[in-house]
Amino acid sequence: MTQRILKIHYPGTVRELIALLKAGKGRVAPVGGGVSFSFSVPPKISELASLRALGLNRIRLDSKGLHLGALVTIEQLAKSPVAAKFRNGLLAQSASKVAATTNRNLITVGGNAIRLFIWSDLPAIYCAAGALFIIRGAKGLKKLTCEQFYKTQPLSLLKHEQFLEEILIPPGEGRSGAAYEKFSETANTFAIVSAAACVSVDRSGKCSSARLAIVGLQLLPRISKAAAKILEGKPPDSARIKEASIAAVNSVAMTKDLRVSGEYKKELAIVIARRVLEKAFSAAGGAL
Ligand SMILES: Cc1cc2nc3c(=O)[nH]c(=O)nc-3n(C[C@H](O)[C@H](O)[C@H](O)COP(=O)(O)OP(=O)(O)OC[C@H]3O[C@@H](n4cnc5c(N)ncnc54)[C@H](O)[C@@H]3O)c2cc1C
Repeated sequence: MTQRILKIHYPGTVRELIALLKAGKGRVAPVGGGVSFSFSVPPKISELASLRALGLNRIRLDSKGLHLGALVTIEQLAKSPVAAKFRNGLLAQSASKVAATTNRNLITVGGNAIRLFIWSDLPAIYCAAGALFIIRGAKGLKKLTCEQFYKTQPLSLLKHEQFLEEILIPPGEGRSGAAYEKFSETANTFAIVSAAACVSVDRSGKCSSARLAIVGLQLLPRISKAAAKILEGKPPDSARIKEASIAAVNSVAMTKDLRVSGEYKKELAIVIARRVLEKAFSAAGGAL
């Protein structure tokens, strides 16, 4: 039976929103763009609380990094001059490849981050970039690291009176570089594979940090420990980057994809991983 939404609330303040969610005891869900509710309505949900009036639609840069309010749309991010200059334009570039403009005008970074699909691009970038997730609830604010936030589907992590207020992406440290690439059937459809890499190199050109995340192999975004082990502490030459890309893909238990064979996806993922690592190291000024 298809679940039905019976009512939409428009709270004017955060306090009102939290009171609504609390009283709803899991029946009332916060809504961003509302796009995912057109696929399916999670069990128990019969009412929605819009976040539109809460001023969460701003992109802001300060010394802590890039702050994305939960209601920032994907189109806003794609067009943001501030995001275009931040960490090699990683977020703006990937946002511009999500769905068609009509959908990008609706989809919010909050909704996109919190309900994962196997094709979700931005969550992998948040992980590669070491983002923090700011959760607000009846007991105040809580900051979760990307590892904590994506331990499981974030939707199941939040208490029913909590909501995601902001995503904070820190600036790259030292000599750092970042890159993102997506492979899909057409320019703006779901990724078959995409990947993001955020790396840094020390003064001698050796890799001091390598955070590679690949989209399309499994549901939860993960930093490849296998790739980091091969790269960190050593010069990032082509052979080592290739070895790291192969190890990153081979260490994942892949989810089936009806569009392509497992072997094809593995080959593709190795190529995309290698490319983003090469681009990121090159942006960081590391020797290749
Ligand atoms: C045709 C199409 C193509 C797409 N392609 C891509 C793609 O290539 N890459 C990609 O990454 N995404 C893609 N998406 C988007 C993705 O699939 C989701 O639909 C989208 O991320 C949902 O965003 P939303 O703002 O509409 O969230 P909503 O539908 O409003 O919410 C999603 C869930 O999160 C909860 N929620 C929303 N905001 C908050 C908050 N601030 N705090 C707590 N809970 C919250 C809601 O209760 C709901 O359970 C595509 C979507 C479509 C329709």
